[in-house]
Amino acid sequence: MNSIPYGRQHITEEDIKEVTQALQSDFLTQGPAILSFEKAFATYVNAKYAVAVSNGTAALHLAALALGVDEKSNVIVPDITFAASANCIKYCGGTVTLVDVNAETATIDLDAVEKLLSSAPAGTFTGIVPVDFAGYAVDTEKLRTLADKYGLWILEDACHAPGGYFVDSKGVKQFCGNGTYADLAIFSFHPVKHIACGEGGMITTNNKTLYEKLLLLRTHGITKDPALMHENHGGWYYEMQELGYNYRLTDFQAALGTSQLKRADEGLKRRREIASKYDAAFANSVVKPLAVQTSGENAYHLYVIQVSDRKGLYENLRAKNIYAQVHYIPVHMLPYYRNSGYKDARFPVAESYYEKCLSIPMYPTLTDAEQAYVIEAILGYY
Ligand SMILES: *Cc1c(COP(=O)(O)O)cnc(C)c1O
Repeated sequence: MNSIPYGRQHITEEDIKEVTQALQSDFLTQGPAILSFEKAFATYVNAKYAVAVSNGTAALHLAALALGVDEKSNVIVPDITFAASANCIKYCGGTVTLVDVNAETATIDLDAVEKLLSSAPAGTFTGIVPVDFAGYAVDTEKLRTLADKYGLWILEDACHAPGGYFVDSKGVKQFCGNGTYADLAIFSFHPVKHIACGEGGMITTNNKTLYEKLLLLRTHGITKDPALMHENHGGWYYEMQELGYNYRLTDFQAALGTSQLKRADEGLKRRREIASKYDAAFANSVVKPLAVQTSGENAYHLYVIQVSDRKGLYENLRAKNIYAQVHYIPVHMLPYYRNSGYKDARFPVAESYYEKCLSIPMYPTLTDAEQAYVIEAILGYY
């Protein structure tokens, strides 16, 4: 059996043709492929605006800046996520307040969030970064009610969930990153994610002011738009109005993204097929998958199981050429966060989840035979 990773990209001849065309065009960067990708992506997730950037972490950083995160900010982040969800607050000088997760879904525990907000003095917290962990769509409608009550903005880390959705109280499908309830959402196009650009990221929103701010921050805070400038010395003139960055995506990466996006629904369908086969195989066994999405559909970036003797299984799978992975080490356990106020912190659900979790192979090109081999290896171990 070939080696089977936990996730991998799928590049087709069509993708290669599109990238080649972009390479032969007049623009390698700052060309028309960017806007096409942004428009296609905004349509895909049902948002008004999208801003393409160089990676998911840059998307988080720009989003935090656009939301005004600074030294006075205190932002709530779930303990189970990739470090970048919290780091973006630190980049801006803000404080990160970690919160435990829900045992069934490993997404942020909304009851714990409510308890935290109601017990702190008014104005303590400025924002929250929910994560659609593994592809499970967080109920941002519920979160919006809380956020409005306590004056928070919402930055949804939807890296795991393009195409995932929950059904809100009015019966409307709310796609992750659609901007209905969250102020901003971010995505990554790292090869293990649903859509691969090599490196790449996207910020989506329905808020025009935030959208325009993000466009400015993406290219050094510089504008050449006469309508936005204070003066105009001539055709060469530009103004740097904010301290921005160079977080641009290239045109050939955007061309790959647009081409990949055309197959996104197909890939999502296949991910859901794989998930339901795993669900059936592990039902009534000692292998406990995360909860399925109630009222909506998971996008299945990851398929996470919880098991005893996780290390033993991990090593046994490796010996069989199956490369499972752990998502994630709780943020409070990372030495950097331990050394910035979390040394004695206890997050019992996240810690217990971390003892048992393992992400097993989940990607559209995983074959039925490979999946059967994975299932047999796991059940065989127990
Ligand atoms: C991948 C990922 C990121 C960071 O994206 P990059 O493109 O790798 O910078 C942030 N948050 C989550 C939840 C992710 O999975």
